Amino acid sequence: MEFKVIELEREPAEFDLQLPPDAVNFGEEAEQVGDLATSGSAEVIHEHRGPKDIVADIRLRGRFAGRFQTPCARCLEPVELPVAADFDLVFRPLGADADAPERSITASETEIGYYQGDGLLLEDVLREQVLLSLPVRTLCKPDCKGLCPHCGANRNLQPCSCDQGPNDPRWEALTDLRNRIKS
Ligand SMILES: [Zn+2]
Ligand SMILES: [Zn+2]
Repeated sequence: MEFKVIELEREPAEFDLQLPPDAVNFGEEAEQVGDLATSGSAEVIHEHRGPKDIVADIRLRGRFAGRFQTPCARCLEPVELPVAADFDLVFRPLGADADAPERSITASETEIGYYQGDGLLLEDVLREQVLLSLPVRTLCKPDCKGLCPHCGANRNLQPCSCDQGPNDPRWEALTDLRNRIKS
C-alpha cells in the first residue's frame, strides 16, 4: 500500500489490513507466519521552515501484530514468537535535510525517516518496524545447548562425543587454523 503525498494533501488516509506472508520481504532474519494485521493512519504535516520553504512530511501512526519465526541464536532452529508494536513515525522527503544536517540528529527526532519520490510504501515501513521489534537475540529455550562448535551437532537433540575429549590434538589444530582464518 502506497501513501502518496499528493493524495494525503487532499485527505488523510486510514488503513486496516491483513497482509499475507508474501506481502513484505523480511529477509532471512524473520519469516512471517500467518497474516500480519496492521492498522493506522497517514497524513501530511507541513513543516514551515521559512516563507518559501515548506516541507511536506508524512506522519504515519499505527500498529501491527503477527507471528514470526526467527532462528535461535544458539542452535539455529526456528523459533516462533508473537510480534506486536505501535508506531508513530515522521518521514521527510529525501534530501530535505541535506543542507541542514543538524536538524536530523537532535535527540527528539530519532524517529525521523525519509521517503523517496512522491510517497511512502507501508510495506517498507513495516519491514523496518517488525525487524526493530524482534528481540536482538532469540533463544528456543533459556537453556538451549546450541550447536557443537566441533561437529556441528544440535546438542539439544543428542549429546555428541566431542565434549568428552576437548583436547583431541586434531581438533586443536583445526581450531588454531580457524582462529588464524578469522583474525
Ligand atoms: Zn536453540
Ligand atoms: Zn560435537
